[in-house]
Amino acid sequence: MRLDHSYANELSELVTPVLPQALKNARVVTINQSLLDQLGLPWHTHDEWLKVLFSAESPLNQHSVAQKYGGHQFGHWNPDLGDGRGVLLSEVIAPNGERWDLHLKGAGQTPYSRFADGRAVLRSTIREYLASEALFHLGIPTSRALCLIASDEMVYREKSEHGAMMIRVCQSHLRFGHFEYFFHSQQLDKLEHLFDYSFKYHFTELSDSPDRYALMLSRIVQDTAKMIASWQAFGFNHGVMNTDNMSIHGITFDFGPYAFLDDFEPNYICNHSDPQGRYSFDSQPGVGLWNLNALAMAFSPYLSRQQITEVLNQYEQHLLTEYGHIMRAKCGLKPNNVDNSAIINEWLDMLASEKKDYSVYFRFLCDFEPKLGVSSLRDSFIDGTRFDRWAQRLAHTLSEQNWPQEQRSASMKQYNPKFVLRNYLAQQVIDKAEQGDFSLFETYLVALSQPFADNPELEKFAAPPPDWGKTLEISCSS
Ligand code: AMP
Ligand code: MG
Repeated sequence: MRLDHSYANELSELVTPVLPQALKNARVVTINQSLLDQLGLPWHTHDEWLKVLFSAESPLNQHSVAQKYGGHQFGHWNPDLGDGRGVLLSEVIAPNGERWDLHLKGAGQTPYSRFADGRAVLRSTIREYLASEALFHLGIPTSRALCLIASDEMVYREKSEHGAMMIRVCQSHLRFGHFEYFFHSQQLDKLEHLFDYSFKYHFTELSDSPDRYALMLSRIVQDTAKMIASWQAFGFNHGVMNTDNMSIHGITFDFGPYAFLDDFEPNYICNHSDPQGRYSFDSQPGVGLWNLNALAMAFSPYLSRQQITEVLNQYEQHLLTEYGHIMRAKCGLKPNNVDNSAIINEWLDMLASEKKDYSVYFRFLCDFEPKLGVSSLRDSFIDGTRFDRWAQRLAHTLSEQNWPQEQRSASMKQYNPKFVLRNYLAQQVIDKAEQGDFSLFETYLVALSQPFADNPELEKFAAPPPDWGKTLEISCSS
């Protein structure tokens, strides 16, 4: 095992040392074994983890720090952010040489807590754990969850709830808001240190190039575009795309009131605290670009306006290319030079106008047979004539592809998950966990870690929500 503390040591002027504070009767509920293996950490049992997290002489908290950053929240600049309830415990150099951050969320107050308690509730840690694993197994870039810690400490949100913690793992916790903060506060020497650090550890192959700033921005633009393309294709609504929740690695980050779409409503708003829909599902591609513009301001000491514009102009094409690639695969259309967007868009329009479940209907589509259509699928649409017209067009295109039905269907099933994370199921998991029963949490994790499999034993996790489950109100409180 190799631990490192490059951020804490080399950017000591950008952090505050903070020790994690244990919760009453803290206990480890789950450890992510495959992630643990990947990181090569030597602690395997729940007891070992408890000890290593909270004992004073543990190698994990000799250099634990809270990071300073800012962020544009709902369009407004806020310089007063930072790790208010989390600490960066350590970096780990995995056996394959990769560097990963271990971040403990819910670790108690820090100088950036403002008036809040520094804690996270069991509900939100379970939601983050489930979501990051669900996205990871769908192939969507994301932070990961290593470990969930429950407790008997009560924390007050809208009501009294159990406090909890989780260890989050990602390449680094560098957010757009880190760079924005040192730019907007005109601490340009610190901004430069942050850039130097980023080139040294995270954009290493660019570090010797005279164009390294443009290339770094370009990489972030591309990675962010690809991430958002996959959100759109798999029906994921993040909900709080503030720039402090945007990672420079283009990974999904800081899960709050997110949702996967149930019925397909393009302007769906998962965040009950966002009545204007700034972060609605179909706003996400535009917000991604808005956020990249905000980040790009921090590059302005190094790049001209024209250079920045040229890089930002790449965003749309990256996003459309990636989105097109996934959507064609979801519809069983081979990558070729033919523009199939009309078929894909008409299918999406039909789903939207008849409010069909986004994931369930894409999974149905895997069984579409050009000669037959799928009569049960057809019969489920109110506008059968419209369906027939579209199905004919799809059948014609498929017949020209020369792709045997079985192979196409198998390929489509790798892009159309049977199991996506549903808020109503997450809520059932949370209700049980609040009673101390984590068995449903564990089995749901099993389903979410094999989203494309046809596993009859897990069938109950594939069901779309009953009506009560469609109207759950998820707010920012966490
Ligand atoms: P979030 O909504 O989780 O992205 O958090 C926004 C900002 O508020 C971040 O700077 C967090 O560290 C801080 N924050 C959120 N919840 C708490 C809390 N319970 N205690 C302290 N700081 C918090
Ligand atoms: Mg956040």
